[in-house]
Amino acid sequence: MGSPTVPTVPKDDVVMAAVRSAASDLERFLYLRRLQRDNPGLFYRVLMGHTEECLPFLYTPTVGEACQKYHRVGVPTYGLYLRASERGRFLDLLRAYPQQDIRVVVVTDGERILGLGDLGAGGMGISEGKSLLYTAAAGVPPHQILPVVLDVGTNNQALLDDPQYAGLRQKRVTGAEYDSLVDEFIRALKAWRPHVLLQFEDFANHNAFHLLERYRPQLACFNDDIQARAPDGLEAWFWGCLEAGCCCTHGTACICLAGVLSALRATGRGIEEQRILFYGAGEAGTGIGELIAICLEHHHGMSREEGRRHCYFMDSKGLVCASRTDLQHHKRPFAHDVPPCRTLEEAIQALRPSVLIGVSTMAGAFSRGVLEAMAALNEQPVIMPLSNPTSKSECTFQEAVEATGDRVLFASGSPFPPLQYGGRTLYPAQANNAYVFPAIGHAAVLTQCKEISDDVFLVAAEKLAEMSNLQEIEQGFLFPRFACIKTVSVKLMAAVADFMVRSRLGSIPPDFDTVCRQAGVASSASNLARWEAYAAAHMFHPNTSH
Ligand code: NAP
Ligand code: MN
Repeated sequence: MGSPTVPTVPKDDVVMAAVRSAASDLERFLYLRRLQRDNPGLFYRVLMGHTEECLPFLYTPTVGEACQKYHRVGVPTYGLYLRASERGRFLDLLRAYPQQDIRVVVVTDGERILGLGDLGAGGMGISEGKSLLYTAAAGVPPHQILPVVLDVGTNNQALLDDPQYAGLRQKRVTGAEYDSLVDEFIRALKAWRPHVLLQFEDFANHNAFHLLERYRPQLACFNDDIQARAPDGLEAWFWGCLEAGCCCTHGTACICLAGVLSALRATGRGIEEQRILFYGAGEAGTGIGELIAICLEHHHGMSREEGRRHCYFMDSKGLVCASRTDLQHHKRPFAHDVPPCRTLEEAIQALRPSVLIGVSTMAGAFSRGVLEAMAALNEQPVIMPLSNPTSKSECTFQEAVEATGDRVLFASGSPFPPLQYGGRTLYPAQANNAYVFPAIGHAAVLTQCKEISDDVFLVAAEKLAEMSNLQEIEQGFLFPRFACIKTVSVKLMAAVADFMVRSRLGSIPPDFDTVCRQAGVASSASNLARWEAYAAAHMFHPNTSH
C-alpha cells in the first residue's frame, strides 16, 4: 500500500473562501487587488474561473467605494497616472510603462465617477475596473490593457484636504489648458500605439461630448455611457450628430435593443410592428431610440425618420410632441405629431404602446395602473425599467409580474431576485452593458478597427438577441446567463469582427488563415465560423499550473 495522498485544497478555493469570509465588500476588493499584485497568475485564474462572483467586488458596485477611498485604503495601483504637471512628457511616460504591447486604453479624468462626482485621481479605480472587465468578460489578455488617469487636479475639497490623497493637489485645469493636455495625451498615444482602442470613461458631460466628437475621426474610441444631456452650448453639436447618424448610440442602446429583439421573439412579432414608449428622454433613452431607428432603417426599408416614428418619449413635462416649443435638440427628432399628454397613463391610452422602457430615474413611475394598462393592451407587454440603481427602478420585477399576471417580458437595469409565481420560477433579465462593450472592444482590437460606428452596436445587439432559445426567453432569460459570458463574447466578437472587416472599418489579421487552420477550421467554412475560431484562439487563458 502506498502512502495516503495528502489532500490539497486547490488554491482557487482558498482564495474564494477568503473572499467569501472577508468582513466587507471593500475588504474583498482589496484582497483580490493585492492578490493581483502579488500573484497575478492565481488572480487571473480566479477572475476567469469565478467571474460572476468576483466582478461585483472588482467592479460595480464595490468599485465606487474603492474609488472614493482609493489612496486612503492603499489600493495597489497598476495603471498609469499622467499628471498635468508632467505635460510635455506623456509620450516618455507611456514608453516607460512596464507593458508595451498595449491594445486597449481606458482613460478617465475622474470628474464624474459613476454617480459619485469628482473623485480626482481616485478615478484610477474605475479605469482599472473596466480594464479587468475586458479580460474577465471578453478575454483581452491583461498585459494588453492600460488603465489611465489623466490627473488634471480635483475640485473635491475633501480630497485636497486629505493628507493621504496622492493626486495633484490643485483645482482642476480647465479650458484651453485642459484641451491641450488631452490633445498631448492623444498624440502621444497615437505615436506610441497607432492602432490602440481608446475608451473614455466617466468624464463629466461638458467634456465627454466634445472629446468624443474631436477624437472619433482620429482613432478608434468610444464612450460606453455618456449619461446626461450635453449642456446647452453643446446641444447643437449633439443635434448635428443625430442628423449625421453618428455618436449617439452606445453600449446601453445596444444591450436594450438586444433585450427588445429577444423579447419579441417570444411574441412572434417584428420590431417594425412595435410602438415603443420611453419614459425619460435623456442620453440613455434617445440613444436607444436612435439605435432602434437605425435597426428599422437597415432591415425594414424605412427612412431614419420613419424609424424614429416608432419611438415616443416622455420627459419631466409630459409627452414629447411636435407642438412643444421647449424641447432640447436631442428630443426634437422624436417629437411626433401627437396630442400632448401629461401623465404616463394618458400617454399609454393615447399611443397604445407594446413596449415600455423606463430611463427616467423616477422610482415607482411604472405604477400598478401603468402596468395594468400595458397588460390590457398587450398579450405579452415588454416592460424595461432601466433606471439604476435599484432604488431608482421604475418598478420591481415582482410588481411587473403581479400586475400583468406573469405575461410580462421584462428586463431591468439593476438586478432583481427570481420570483415564484403560479407554481413556476420566473427570472428577471438584467440589461447589463458588460455583455457588449468588452466583446466589441476585443473585436476592434483583432481587426485594428478604425472607427466604432453605430452599425457595430446594431450588429452586436442582433447577435446577442439570437443567443437565448425560446424556452429560455419564456422563463425570463432575454439574455444568455452571465456565467456563460466568455462563450457569448466569442460569438459577439466573431459577428462584430466579421462586420468590421466587411464594412472596411477593420481588416483581416495577418495570422487569420494560420490560426483558423490550426484550430481545424477549413478555409471553406463560413466567415463566421472562422472568426469564431479566431476569436476563441485569442481569448486569454490564465496559467493553469500552480
Ligand atoms: P438623464 O439624461 O438625466 O435623463 C433622464 C430623463 O428622465 C430626462 O429626459 C428627464 O426629463 C426624464 N425625467 C425626469 N423626471 C421625470 C418625470 N417625473 N417624468 C418623466 N420623465 C422624467 O439620464 P440618462 O443618462 O438618460 O439615464 C437615465 C437612467 O437610465 C438612469 O437611472 C441610468 O442609471 C439608467 N441607465 C441604465 C443603463 C443600463 O441599464 N444598462 C444604462 C444607462 C443608463 P427632462 O428631460 O425633462 O429633464
Ligand atoms: Mn461609466
